[in-house]
Amino acid sequence: MSGTELRIILLGCPGAGKGTQAKALCGRYGLSHVSTGDLFRAEAAAKSALGRKVEDFMKRGMLVPDEVVIEMVAAKLDSLAGGWLFDGFPRTLPQAQELDKVLRDSDKRIDLVLNLGLRPEEVISRMTGRRSCPGCGEVFNLKSRPPKAEGRCDKCGGTLVQREDDVEATVRKRLMVYEDLTQPLVAYYRTEGLFEEVDGSQPASEVTAQLAAIVDRVAASRSGAKG
Ligand code: ADP
Ligand code: ZN
Repeated sequence: MSGTELRIILLGCPGAGKGTQAKALCGRYGLSHVSTGDLFRAEAAAKSALGRKVEDFMKRGMLVPDEVVIEMVAAKLDSLAGGWLFDGFPRTLPQAQELDKVLRDSDKRIDLVLNLGLRPEEVISRMTGRRSCPGCGEVFNLKSRPPKAEGRCDKCGGTLVQREDDVEATVRKRLMVYEDLTQPLVAYYRTEGLFEEVDGSQPASEVTAQLAAIVDRVAASRSGAKG
């Protein structure tokens, strides 16, 4: 699949499994994985000026203001060569419109928007069980993917932690924010004919297989159409 410069957006509510699927797809198709959540967490951990600005929004389950997100993504886009997959961006209509504009200015376009569908009740149980390793970034789940030894990372032995914004009250808040601000993107991309949805409640490997089948189809039709 190398040589296909695919540009993909992965949508889905918090906890739908975007991070896991993004890693799988990027590995398979040689795309750069851009997660605005990961970028913001890295800035916050480094205590940069940007990190200090966004930390409080994240802890409270609120979105970072559009202009801050857009500025960071535009800088990131400049540094990307080849295809990419955005995970967690865009998250609002203004972000989506701004992305379209930036891409248009450089004669590029989005090839595909993938949505991971999941019911809110399922999200709550998944997210409150999520634990991650600050050392290597590996993510576990007390229900669906428990670590072999309690509280320890299988990969590097680090002590697992719960993300501050994964506590139940904050998860509920994030879901409300998603419904209000991010859900409208589904209609936006549907009218552009780029939208495809997969059932995110299936086992991760099954979700990956279905997503990959869609990407293969789009990649094939693109190389057929040339450009
Ligand atoms: P999840 O998808 O599990 O909610 P992320 O890791 O994508 O989590 O994002 C974590 C937090 O980072 C969000 O709750 C929000 O505060 C901030 N964030 C990430 N991406 C964006 C974005 N595109 N616009 C606004 N805020 C964002
Ligand atoms: Zn680890």
